[in-house]
Amino acid sequence: METETRIAAVGFAAHETGGDLSRWSFNRRAPRPKDVVIAIRYCGICHSDIHNIHNSWGYSRYPLVPGHEIVGEVIRVGTGVDNLAVGQNVAVGTIVDSCRHCGPCSNKLEQYCEEYPTLTYNGIDRTSGETTFGGFSNILVVDERFVHPVPASLELANVAPLLCAGITTYSPLRHWNIGPGYTVGVVGLGGLGHMAIKFTHALGAYVVLFTTSASKCADGLALGADEAILSTDAETMQTQANRFDFILDTVPVAHPLNPYLIALKLDGTLCSLGIPAAGLDFDPGLLAAGRKQISSSGVGGTKETSEMLAFCALHGIVSDIELVGFDQIPDAFERLERGDVRYRFVIDIAMGPAALQPAPA
Ligand code: NAP
Ligand code: ZN
Repeated sequence: METETRIAAVGFAAHETGGDLSRWSFNRRAPRPKDVVIAIRYCGICHSDIHNIHNSWGYSRYPLVPGHEIVGEVIRVGTGVDNLAVGQNVAVGTIVDSCRHCGPCSNKLEQYCEEYPTLTYNGIDRTSGETTFGGFSNILVVDERFVHPVPASLELANVAPLLCAGITTYSPLRHWNIGPGYTVGVVGLGGLGHMAIKFTHALGAYVVLFTTSASKCADGLALGADEAILSTDAETMQTQANRFDFILDTVPVAHPLNPYLIALKLDGTLCSLGIPAAGLDFDPGLLAAGRKQISSSGVGGTKETSEMLAFCALHGIVSDIELVGFDQIPDAFERLERGDVRYRFVIDIAMGPAALQPAPA
């Protein structure tokens, strides 16, 4: 394997804050001994891609190639690669490197790396100092530690969203030991929310969907929820007090948390996964009233991602997706912003008028 030649890539990039995506040619880093080269086939569209394009979190760098729910085929392996082979279907999520020696990294909790993980896009390569570019493109170069084999029984395109929406919901459910006997609320039925319902149901807990969309109630039940509640119905919301052990909130914008804090039991936890640009809106007195907690959780590390993929293979869990081509991204973004997603858009890189040539083997 060449170690000095950079790899030509083509993708779709935003060139300014909030800018439309346009086709852009760039280079991936020259592969290192531990790197694999992946011909990308599919990439999910996460609400975080919209936050990043709009620089909602204040650290976006442009050009910005989004995409951190990536699946494809290994087309080259470096001389030091131990666990992956050419021709294998693999997946890459939101993190492509970390310091590897701090406490969290030693426990494969790389998402909590004390030196901050290198994000798949809009990150800084720890060796070269270059900006990282994501999966809205045809080829990726990444260290094998952050590459996960895809279980053969799962449909490749439907696996892509597991690498962010999946692990981001699986990880807190496992951390808070959700299982039989628990009553869990899931707020928002989008990419994260639909995975949260599938996982909570499979873990054996009683799961209640809170949605702002009346049209999604039936879907929530079909996805595995035991109840679906319209959160805009104030009267029904008032009947939820002291009911939930755990609530997973996936709403991407600031919204009132008080109804959900009231809905928690004594010692219950509201885990807020959405990372809105504005702060959280809640009454601290409600925490004191029931020793309740507001917490959060970040994606998942390599160990837990492997565990999640095995759990998905065991339970036949994948994401419900709508396949789109690159030319449909503006429409997909617009639909995401108004909550019209069922339940993850996934880009097929070879689809439609703006299709990219899959990377050659
Ligand atoms: P999504 O697919 O757009 O789903 C969000 C859902 O929230 C919508 O479908 C909608 O569901 C509900 N919603 C939207 N606007 C709302 C509003 N104004 N009020 C109440 N509910 C609203 O988004 P996603 O990709 O699942 O991402 C959700 C959030 O998680 C984003 O902020 C994303 O950046 C964040 N995230 C965090 C992590 C992490 O590590 N913590 C990882 C990935 C993503 P209903 O129609 O059912 O109400
Ligand atoms: Zn994401």
